Amino acid sequence: MTAAQSKKHYDLSEVLIDEKTLAKRIAELGAEITKDYEGRSIVLIGILKGSIPFIADLMRHIKLDDLEVDYISVSSYGRSTKSSGVVRILKDLDSDIKSKDVIIVEDIIDTGLTLAYLKEYFMGRNPNSLKICTLLDKPSRRKVDIRGDYVGFQVEDRFIVGYGLDVDQRYRNLPFISWIKEE
Ligand code: 5GP
Repeated sequence: MTAAQSKKHYDLSEVLIDEKTLAKRIAELGAEITKDYEGRSIVLIGILKGSIPFIADLMRHIKLDDLEVDYISVSSYGRSTKSSGVVRILKDLDSDIKSKDVIIVEDIIDTGLTLAYLKEYFMGRNPNSLKICTLLDKPSRRKVDIRGDYVGFQVEDRFIVGYGLDVDQRYRNLPFISWIKEE
């Protein structure tokens, strides 16, 4: 049996957000950030691995001369589709964000636990400002009071995959957003 054959099968549901719609909204978010931070320098912090396609597309729509990019990796759901609420830092930032204008770039806010933790963690490093940009937002699942300052799309309580979001490390490479039925 090959590695691919031994993996669990998931049924992809319909396309929720297609490539064109994603591209249009991300361009709008980039323009909004460009306007809000005109003349300033910013640091985008991507949360690995889910934010990779989003941050890559978003940064190309932010027309600022002084833009740095850094990444942090935190533990995620792993194989399960339910949040454990436990956040573990697997890879920390490379740069110092003290006195910087920072925007966290996330794939999705679900319970909000990950971002609540990271927000406090980054605030401890004394940035000048800290905002959140998320591609997707699932407000119905929120457990803590966390809001995105820049939000791409609100989604219903479904398990989303594609455009960076995985199940069992798969489907991150889909160019659109879809969802799968949870067992
Ligand atoms: P939170 O801490 O807000 O509950 O969840 C944050 C992280 O959980 C996200 O960055 C993402 O990795 C994962 N997550 C939350 N909802 C979904 C979802 O619908 N699909 C996938 N693939 N991951 C999700």
